[in-house]
Amino acid sequence: MLGDFTGQKVVVTGAAKGIGKGIASVFVKAGADVVIGDIDMENGKKTASELTQLAGSCEYIYLDVTNQDSIEKFFDAVEDVQVLCSNTGIFPQKKIVDMTVEDWDHIQNVNLKSTFLMVKEAIKRMTPAKYGRIVLTSSITGAVTGFPGWSHYGATKAGILGFMRSACLEVARKGITINAVMPGNILTEGLKEQGEKYLETMAKSVPTGFLGDPEDIGNAALFLASAEARYITGQAIIVDGGQILPETLEALPED
Ligand code: NAP
Repeated sequence: MLGDFTGQKVVVTGAAKGIGKGIASVFVKAGADVVIGDIDMENGKKTASELTQLAGSCEYIYLDVTNQDSIEKFFDAVEDVQVLCSNTGIFPQKKIVDMTVEDWDHIQNVNLKSTFLMVKEAIKRMTPAKYGRIVLTSSITGAVTGFPGWSHYGATKAGILGFMRSACLEVARKGITINAVMPGNILTEGLKEQGEKYLETMAKSVPTGFLGDPEDIGNAALFLASAEARYITGQAIIVDGGQILPETLEALPED
């Protein structure tokens, strides 16, 4: 049955809050044993206990996705893994003229190098069973659209898709698929930090007229992570309420 993850161990990174929490919640409701990996211990533990009460099985294990030792320890503690949702990402805004090499390197480490490190370790663990589903969180920003202040961020999100297209070929005969979700504007703690004006303007530029919910991304991830999606690999699903489509403001639907 599509959407039944009973008996499957699902790792979701960056899931103490935001989109990752939404993804974790969808998988918990689908019967999975979910493991949250996040640098934020306090919220990680809180979310794991909240989701366990909601539907079933969710635990938190500390993870810093920029650190290879931390990743190896994390997977040792997880033991068995069928699904990895590699979702951690940061999106600080900085114009190029103000951007330092440290700013650039930091976001590449957290968003892009982490994808390589997480996927490398997951593949190692999934290969013996000849089964695995990996879902990466990219973005419309960088891969399709642009936004001043997010050139470094956009580069990481387009980079994730570039990485995915070769990585999925390396594991295609091992029963492992690698796909991506590309969120538009999803109402998370991180997005709220962009300010009220940003949120209002964004909601108005989305054809459906509202910002997405973290579980909207979770539902797309769940499909790509299902056994039934075995013939889909190296693909990305845009989940953005149609945001990338209007050519001009006139193309937006009337109220
Ligand atoms: P969020 O609310 O800021 O949550 C991200 C989580 O990742 C936080 O708990 C954060 O902890 C954690 N984290 C940061 N650095 C980490 C590290 N080194 N190791 C492990 N965990 C770490 O972000 P979000 O809005 O849910 O975004 C999640 C993903 O979706 C990101 O990849 C983002 O680029 C992507 N995305 C989001 C949107 C959107 O509209 N929200 C749109 C497109 C794509 P701290 O808070 O302690 O740093």
